[in-house]
Amino acid sequence: MTHSIGFVGLGNMGGPMAANLVKAGYAVTGYDLSEAARGRAAGRGVAMADSAGAAVEAAGVVVTMLPTGRHVLEAYDELTSVARGALFVDCSTVAVGDARIAADLARTAGHRAVDAPVSGGVPGAEAASLTFMVGAGDADFAEAEPLLAAMGRRVVHCGASGAGQAAKICNNMILGISMIAVSEAFVLGESLGLGHQALFDVASTASGQCWALTTNCPVPGPVPTSPANREYAAGFAAALMAKDLGLAAGAAESAGVSTELGRRAAQLYADFAAGEGAGLDFSAIITTLTEGAK
Ligand code: NAD
Repeated sequence: MTHSIGFVGLGNMGGPMAANLVKAGYAVTGYDLSEAARGRAAGRGVAMADSAGAAVEAAGVVVTMLPTGRHVLEAYDELTSVARGALFVDCSTVAVGDARIAADLARTAGHRAVDAPVSGGVPGAEAASLTFMVGAGDADFAEAEPLLAAMGRRVVHCGASGAGQAAKICNNMILGISMIAVSEAFVLGESLGLGHQALFDVASTASGQCWALTTNCPVPGPVPTSPANREYAAGFAAALMAKDLGLAAGAAESAGVSTELGRRAAQLYADFAAGEGAGLDFSAIITTLTEGAK
């Protein structure tokens, strides 16, 4: 069955995601606070409403792609009272606790709810090759899966409400820590007279192998497509890494788990994103470690 979709939040990610739903044959009505975002999405076939409420009032599915948990909860306060018996799908990255509150708000108002954060960034949103990590009951997952598949390449059912967000922050905690580990290894190697290419040739085929090294290598040269070769133009912005590591540290604290390296990485990225790293790819964290080594 083809649902009509109300899509709220048409920014860097939401704009191309909504356009891919249109391409797949869904009738999508969207809204964004930004006029520029509305214009771009309208140019890609998304019907435009004059408010978020108007975008979702007749929709069978409500998709949100908003900056933070605060934005999502504020939007859900309004949208869950306007929509009628809809499937609510939040694709934003938010705290696990906020995802559960949002799902409760939706269910209490008579809707179904799914958290479905993504990995793959803007290129993945454009190419419909995102990975969706989904927290939902079995029936709600089955209903959401076809439309998520229209925006992505992989759709993984991670467990009940909040489990999608848990998977997202755990994955990005691995990534944030491993980028710092790879960067420290290049800085140490260099100070010992070891060339970047030599370390790459060994570690990329040995037990140090990881995505931070082989795809997003923080030094220019070994991986020509990595942001280090274009002065660290993002890519995956350091500010977003700081946000995700902050969510992971907050979740660890509420769960009473000591994620020592995760907390340290969160601090390093928060400092970096608040200063010279604002707007740069997260792999540029290596420049702060290099400075420290001098
Ligand atoms: P963005 O800032 O480009 O887009 C968010 C949009 O939401 C903006 O256009 C803003 O005007 C709009 N908005 C805010 N409040 C609104 C409201 N009440 N009603 C309507 N529109 C509203 O952000 P983005 O890069 O698209 O990221 C969205 C989410 O996806 C974030 O949670 C982010 O952490 C997550 N994410 C981003 C990336 C990435 O690479 N950009 C990757 C994975 C996950």
